[in-house]
Parts: sequence; C-alpha cells; structure tokens
Amino acid sequence: MFESIKKKFTAEGNESAGSTGKPDINREKSAELYAKAKTFFPGGVNSPVRAFKSVYGTPLFIKRGDGCHLWDADDNQFVDFCCSWGPLILGHNNAKVREKVIEVMQNGMSFGAPTALENELAELIIKNNKFIEKIRFVSSGTEAVMSAIRLARGYTKRDKILKFEGCYHGHTDSLLVKAGSGLVTFGETSSAGVPKSFADETIVVALNDREAVQKAFEEFKDQIAAIIIEPVPANNGLILQEKEYLQYLREICTQNGTLLIFDEVISGFRIGFEGAAGYYQIKPDILTYGKIIGGGLPVGAYGASAEIMSNVSPDGGVYQAGTLSGNPVAMAAGIAQLSELLRMGFYRDLNNKTEEFTEAIQRFATARNYKFKVFTIGSIFWFAFTDKEAIRNADDIDASSMEKFKKLHRELLNRGVYLGPSGYEVGFISSAHTKIDLEKAKRAIFDSLEVVFREK
Ligand SMILES: *Cc1c(COP(=O)(O)O)cnc(C)c1O
Repeated sequence: MFESIKKKFTAEGNESAGSTGKPDINREKSAELYAKAKTFFPGGVNSPVRAFKSVYGTPLFIKRGDGCHLWDADDNQFVDFCCSWGPLILGHNNAKVREKVIEVMQNGMSFGAPTALENELAELIIKNNKFIEKIRFVSSGTEAVMSAIRLARGYTKRDKILKFEGCYHGHTDSLLVKAGSGLVTFGETSSAGVPKSFADETIVVALNDREAVQKAFEEFKDQIAAIIIEPVPANNGLILQEKEYLQYLREICTQNGTLLIFDEVISGFRIGFEGAAGYYQIKPDILTYGKIIGGGLPVGAYGASAEIMSNVSPDGGVYQAGTLSGNPVAMAAGIAQLSELLRMGFYRDLNNKTEEFTEAIQRFATARNYKFKVFTIGSIFWFAFTDKEAIRNADDIDASSMEKFKKLHRELLNRGVYLGPSGYEVGFISSAHTKIDLEKAKRAIFDSLEVVFREK
C-alpha cells in the first residue's frame, strides 16, 4: 500500500492544468481557511487525503451538506460523490438520522455505562446478518481492524497476519506495510514510526494470486493467525476480486486453522445489508465494520461467532476497551440509518440507479474510444483511465494515468461535481441522489471527459 499511499498523499499537485474551457471556481474563502488551518494542523488537515495533494488547487472547506449536495465556504454548490468517504448512504443531513440524534442528545452525550441503544443497534445488525452472532462496538474502522487482528491472534495463539497489496485497513501499525520484492514477502513498513519487528509479523502478497498464498502457507506453516482482505477492495481503486478467489481463501484458511477476516468497513451495509459476505455468500470468521454503521458519526464494530467473540474481554483474555465505545448519540445515528437500509427494495433501487448512471458514462466513453473504464459494484464506482477489461491487483493500475484524473477532478469541480480528491478513491451514490441530480452530473462528466481527452 505504500506506493499508493505515497501517490495519494505526496504527488505533485496544484500547478495550472492549462486551458480548460471553464473558469476555475472561486476558492477565496477556502484558501483563507486553509492558510489558517496550516498553522494548526500538519498539512492543514486532520486526515492526509483531504489536503488535495493529488489534485488541482486548495482543498475546499465545506460549510453545509443536504441530500446529495455540498456547499463550500465560497458558496459553490456540488453534487457530492464522496459522501464523507462512504458513510452517508442516505446522503447529507438525512432527516430521520438528524431527528433521532437530536432526540437522543437531549438526554446527555455519554455515560460510560451501557445503554439500551447499544442493544438496539446490535439487534438490528445481528438479526439481519447471518454471518455474526456477537458484536463489539468501537469508534472507527481502524480500531475495529486493530481489535479483529488481536482477536485472531489471541484465538489462534499465532502471530503472523497475511494481507494483500492494494488493500487498506486503516492505520494500525501491523497493517501499514507494503510488499517487498518477491512472491511472498514480509512487509516493509509503509509509514515512518512502525517498528520493523511489527512489519515482520505481516506477510504481504498480491491480490488474485493463489500461488503466492499457497507459498505463504507452506513457508509459514501453523504460524498464520489470519488472512485479512477487503472482499471488495475499494481503497486503492476498485480492485474487484472473483468469487472463486475469495472462496479459495476461505478454503485455505479452514485447512490451516487460520481465521479469515473480511474487512467490510467500506463494503459493509454498502453493497447490501450483509455486505460482501452476503453478496458472495462466503462466511468469514471475523468481520469488521465502520463508515455506514455510524450514520455519519464515529462508529466501528467487529463481529464473529459467539465462540470466537467469547475470547474478548471481559469474557476472554483478548483485551479491548473504549471510553466512548457504544456512545449513545453515535448509536442513535446508526440505528436511524440502518433502519432505512432495511426497507424493502432499498438496495435494489440504489444499485439500479448506480448501474444506469455508470453504464451511461461507459457508453459515452466507449463511443469515443476513450481509454476510460468505470468499474462498479453495488453503489460504489471507480473511474479508471485504462483499457484493461478488469483490474484484479494493484499492479494493474497505471500510476501515470492519475495525471488524467487530476484534470478530470478540476473540470468536475468547475462544473459542480465533487469527487474524492484522488484517482485512487472510489465514488459513492446515495439514496439522496435523484435522477435529475445524476443527469446533471452525467452531463458534467461527459463535458469534463471531453476536455481531458482533447488535450494530449
Ligand atoms: C475506511 C477504512 C478503514 C479505516 O477506517 P477509519 O474509520 O478511517 O479508521 C479500514 N478498512 C477499510 C476497508 C476502510 O475502507
């Protein structure tokens, strides 16, 4: 992941992209706020990709969101396809979520003691997800993954973890590793500050490569506690895997007494209520959630069978805790949001809408022979400047194509469409994106692609 982290966060940005046919939007107030933010925060932000390092211009400071729309500090309006990086499957400022949060807030913000709201959210999830019997709420995706890894190690009494190049699992130390050279390698740290000895416990292989996984199990027999994968890898482009490959991972884990962890922080509640596990009908041993589960407030979770979860403290010896875990206001947002997702036809409508949108864009590009593909699953999409029919591992992504994304991003902002500020990020469609909004966005995307492909 290091290369892509580097690409995402340190690529050269901000020089003029040349003649574009549309004047740049006014970013005066955002620029002022950004200048001030830089005096407070490293890079002026509280999470690196927000700094717009891989795209043109200063980051936009957001003032307000409603439905599928965003407004920045300079009052520019956008159709938003970032959706807070995935959590907002109902769009911004959804009335049901907002009202539930306000109602619960009236009674206080945090107690550090159990509340009925935790039961309610847990029941909502477990009753509608056959892959987990018990769950533990935490406050972020990173925390969920970190805890799942500890649980897998505690349960199997093994230390090593196998992960895939091109999957992101948050910023926990043992997963900030990238592949070295060779088929099966110990990871090299992809962040300063991660001890080499931690990375030595993490094996990194390419996605969609059975031989590499096979070899890892031969080399580290009875040492691998868990394989962790994003079953829908969506943090480094959208690197969709074949079901047979995920099934293969399931089988090799079972044969070796290794736990299979599906990191569903992005895919959970996104490509269906049961996430990727439900979509592919593959049962992992531990699942992690984040993003959508909290309705826009900070919630993460990990879940598994009752037997595996019995290893978590205070029942078992795997310690894990949190001052604000199960926070009532955050639980309220989760309850309100997930209840909407359980409505009949919710995912069918959302996914159909996405398919229509992405197919129209693909048709447009194909008719003009653009080297451009829209990859999609559920309500996730990714614009790739490639002519490959499928992208199955991180090496299939052409880093130089990101120059084109950078231009596209600028053209889209100038036409009122907001995408995450990196070509390695996917886009999301929410239930708040109406046909009219999508039609408008589509036109902006067509015009922008024309500009991007007009320049050589
Ligand atoms: C976003 C994400 C994380 C990290 O979650 P945070 O809430 O940002 O800590 C971990 N895994 C996957 C698959 C994610 O998409």
